[in-house]
Amino acid sequence: MAEGHAVHGMAARVRRLVGQPGRSSGPPSGSFDPVVLDGLVVRGAEAHGKHLLVQVAGSPSTVHLHLGMHGRVSVRRHRLALGGDGLPRTDPPVPEGLAWRFLTATLLLEVTRPTICEVLDGAGVAALHDRLGPDPLRDDADPEAAVARLHRSRRPIGVLLLDQGVVSGIGNIYRAELLWRARLDPHSPGRAVPVEALRALWQDAIDLMTVGLGAGWIVTDPRQLDDARELLTRGEPVPRWRRRYAVYLRRGRPCPRCGETVRAERMGLQTAYWCPGCQVLHG
Ligand SMILES: [Zn+2]
Repeated sequence: MAEGHAVHGMAARVRRLVGQPGRSSGPPSGSFDPVVLDGLVVRGAEAHGKHLLVQVAGSPSTVHLHLGMHGRVSVRRHRLALGGDGLPRTDPPVPEGLAWRFLTATLLLEVTRPTICEVLDGAGVAALHDRLGPDPLRDDADPEAAVARLHRSRRPIGVLLLDQGVVSGIGNIYRAELLWRARLDPHSPGRAVPVEALRALWQDAIDLMTVGLGAGWIVTDPRQLDDARELLTRGEPVPRWRRRYAVYLRRGRPCPRCGETVRAERMGLQTAYWCPGCQVLHG
């Protein structure tokens, strides 16, 4: 499943369509009928956690997408011949699992196999934001609100980080690596973790996910992080280096910090990985 940085990356790609009217098509599904968006103009796109919102001029105003395990959003240039209205005269072939297509004079947006594809009005968008926790990659995320949400719960910090209603955008890889970097035991109740440690954890989530957004993949290895930051500062792309994690998917192998054997256990909806030797902070 795409973690939040990937969905923010999708939003950035969809923003290439801003200001362009397009032909909307796709199979009607549930309450979603792509015809109601036909001829309208894309106004913007944003991510909140793992949810992607595409704003379209007119009412109802926003396409809400959640990609789940297999969904995909692609934006690419096309070279289709244009008709008198400035829009392509023909449609490209329909990919398998197409849920929504928006075709402008120059760009083709396609959404395939999402778990959610629906149109929301303003109240629906507000309700979605309300039920999602602060997202480390959103400018409007309040760090103290995120810390307070984590700190008031008796539930394990490893469960809280994946609960999108508590904080949003963190997936299983970031959970494992963030807790290892913070030396936090994933079983520690949120309320037992010192506020200062939660503040540092939140800031580390911002830092790591910002690099992930810029790189287009999850970078957590300290040396790779340094190299990726340097490239991003220079405005250069980050190559897809061989991925190195401290604990994620490393059950039974030695911890790179203390040598203890990495453990794995179902926690929340996914398997948590951690080192019992050095992730010992309980507050
Ligand atoms: Zn260790």
